[in-house]
Amino acid sequence: MTGSSGFLYEGKAKRIHAGASSDRVDLEFKDEATAFNAAKRAHLEGKGWLNCQISARLFDHLERSGIPTHYLGLSPRGAHWMTARRVRVVPIEVVIRNRAAGSLCRELPIDPGTPLDPPLLDLYYKDDGLGDPLLTESRLTLLDLVTPERRQEIERMARQVNAALQALLVPLDLDLIDFKLEFGETEAGTLVVADEISPDTCRLWDQRDRAGDDPQRSLDKDRFRRDLGGVIEAYREVYKRVQGACPDPCVCR
Ligand code: 5GP
Repeated sequence: MTGSSGFLYEGKAKRIHAGASSDRVDLEFKDEATAFNAAKRAHLEGKGWLNCQISARLFDHLERSGIPTHYLGLSPRGAHWMTARRVRVVPIEVVIRNRAAGSLCRELPIDPGTPLDPPLLDLYYKDDGLGDPLLTESRLTLLDLVTPERRQEIERMARQVNAALQALLVPLDLDLIDFKLEFGETEAGTLVVADEISPDTCRLWDQRDRAGDDPQRSLDKDRFRRDLGGVIEAYREVYKRVQGACPDPCVCR
């Protein structure tokens, strides 16, 4: 379907196409994996399908939890296609951390796995060319990206997403270490959770039969970043557990 009419934009993990109406888009999830701002790349057969199917169920779960998202349903165009509301993307990436990992442990003297209570919320400026830099209070004010009220709403919603995801994932023995969210604004000005929520954008540590410091507990993109192998197997395990707990997503016509 690549190159079909209505192609709008290509990102690292998805292609965005015009939808069935002007207020919709179709997201095509790709099998390409990238890390370290695309310095590392690979083709992982089946990743697009898995991320699409996992994301659909997680968005559906958020909607059922009363959190507005851009998600409308799976798309009839294919099993790695999702239909979403067309939104203006807010150029801020929100990262919520329940335990220390990744960049936090590289940048601060804190051990991986340290619980963070309350969860740490970091804002980054969404710009691949600049490497998504961390935003400080004064940089946020300087760039004037969102109003203070909108920023409060974004942070409140991100924390609600964290609670809703944990409520789903903890009983599945998936420890939600951290995750990245993106937000969009609809034509009417409503704030919604956008992009995707998948093992590409979350750290998930397996709580089944894994010792605390076993790197194989990672069921997420760290397997790709750190060359741990078994990336697709790990994503498939997340899919299996999430699928068992969530109803099948509807197909959006
Ligand atoms: P870190 O700050 O350790 O790089 O990332 C924290 C969390 O946010 C991880 O779950 C990571 O996957 C996610 N994350 C942060 N930035 C990005 C990004 O640009 N792309 C993706 N896919 N995930 C990100």
